[in-house]
Amino acid sequence: MRVTVIGAGYVGLVTAACFADVGNQVTCIERDAERLSALRDRAEVPFYEPGLSDLVRRNIEQGRLTLSPSIAEGLPGSQVCFIAVGTPSLPNGQADLSQVEGAATEIGRAMTGPLVVVQKSTAPVGTIPKVRALVEAGLAARGVSHRLGVVSNPEFLKEGSAIEDFTRGDRIVLGSDDPQAIATMRELYRPFNRNHEKIMVMDAASAELTKYAANAMLATRISFMNELARIAEAVGADIEQIRKGIGVDHRIGSHFLYAGAGYGGSCFPKDVKALAHTARELGLHAELVEAVEAVNQRQKLRVFEKISDHYQGKLAGKTIALWGLAFKPNTDDMRDAPSLDLITALLQAGARVQTWDPVAVEMARRLLPEHPALEFSADARATLSGADALVVITEWHAFRSPDFTSLAATLRDRVVFDGRNIWDPEFVRSTGLRYYGIGRG
Ligand code: NAD
Repeated sequence: MRVTVIGAGYVGLVTAACFADVGNQVTCIERDAERLSALRDRAEVPFYEPGLSDLVRRNIEQGRLTLSPSIAEGLPGSQVCFIAVGTPSLPNGQADLSQVEGAATEIGRAMTGPLVVVQKSTAPVGTIPKVRALVEAGLAARGVSHRLGVVSNPEFLKEGSAIEDFTRGDRIVLGSDDPQAIATMRELYRPFNRNHEKIMVMDAASAELTKYAANAMLATRISFMNELARIAEAVGADIEQIRKGIGVDHRIGSHFLYAGAGYGGSCFPKDVKALAHTARELGLHAELVEAVEAVNQRQKLRVFEKISDHYQGKLAGKTIALWGLAFKPNTDDMRDAPSLDLITALLQAGARVQTWDPVAVEMARRLLPEHPALEFSADARATLSGADALVVITEWHAFRSPDFTSLAATLRDRVVFDGRNIWDPEFVRSTGLRYYGIGRG
C-alpha cells in the first residue's frame, strides 16, 4: 500500500518505519527542518529509540521509506494517511489540537484520490468528526470530491520498546463505522495481526476514550503507590514489600506499582490532564483523575523534600550528583520529566547540580536554561567529583549496582537519595552511607 505518515516523532517515525519494513511504500512528512534534514540527508533518527536507527536506515536504503517536508508534496497518491503529530497540553489542561487540525486542513488541500485518514495522535473524543470536517472543507474549497474514510487508531507503544510494542502490541484499536475504511486498515495491519486476532473495531468515540482510559489507569496505579508510600513511611513500613505483597494477586498484577519520583513523559501527564478537562467541559467532576494528577505533582518534589529535610533546608553551597535525566530508562524524552522539577528546586535552593544521563543530556540542555550551578558531566563517575550527596532519579540499568564502598569514600556527606527504590537500603547502609528511598520507613 501507499501510506503517508504526518509527523516524524516517536510515534510517527516508528509507524512509518514499521509499515515500510513489511513492504509498504511509506512517505513520512516532517515540517521541522532539523528533524527532516537529519532523517532525509543522513538517515539519522533525531531522538533515541532502541532499534529505530537500523530500521529507518534499512528502509530508506531499500527505497520503501522516503521523507518529505510537506503534505502537499508527500500525500498525493496515498491510500492511507496517518496523523501522528503532537497533542501537547494547553495551560488549562486541554489537549492542544492545533497540529492535528493543521494537518487535517492540509490533507483536504492536497488529497488527489480516495483516502483513509487515520487519527493516531492521542486526541479527545470528538476529534474524528472535526478531522473529517476539516478535510472535507479543503476538498470543497477546491471543488473536488473523493471518498474519505476517517478512523481513530490510538497508539499504545511505549518509548524504549516502541518497535516491539508497535509490531507485537496487545491490541490494535480501530474506531470507525465505515466498513470500507476498516477493511483497508485490516489489510494494512495484517502482518502485525497474524498469530491471534488483535484488531478491535469500535465506534470512534470509544476508541478515542480507550486511549485516555489506558493511560489514566496506569497513572492511577503509580499515584496510588506514591500515596501509599507516604503512609508506609509514616508508619514505618516498606512500600517495596507492600508492592510485592499486592503484585502477586492476579486481580491486581505487578505492573506499574512502583513508588518513586512521580511519572513524567510526553503522555501520562498531558493525557491525565486532558481527560480531567474533558470531564469538566461536560459538567462532570473526574475526582479520581484530578487526584492522580495532584498526587503526581506533589510526588515530583518528594526527592527534593527529602534532600532539603536532610540538610535542614541549608542547601546553599552543597553539590548534588544527579544520576539520570530522562523520564524513564531507554529514552531521551525529557518532556515533563521529574528531573526537571528536582533540578529547578535544587538550583533555587542554592545547591550545585552535577548530572549525567546515558542518552538524555542533549534533550535536557534544550529544556533547562543555562545556569552557572548546573553542570552536565561527561559520565556518571564525573558527577561525583566534589559531590556531597548522590541522587538517582532514572532507573537506568547502569545505575543499579554502583560500587557503594567507593561512593561512601567519595561523597563528602556520605548520603544517597534513591528516587526509584533501585538500591537495597540495608546493603547501602552497610557500606557506611546514609540511605533515603521512597516509602521505606
Ligand atoms: P512528537 O512531538 O515527538 O512528534 C510530532 C511531530 O509531528 C513533530 O516532529 C512535529 O514537527 C511534526 N508535525 C506537526 N505538525 C506537522 C505537519 N503539519 N506536517 C509535518 N509534520 C508535523 O510527538 P510523539 O511523541 O511522536 O507523539 C505523537 C502523538 O502520539 C501524540 O498525540 C502523543 O500523545 C501520541 N502518543 C505518543 C506516545 C509516545 O510514547 N511518545 C505513545 C502513544 C501515543
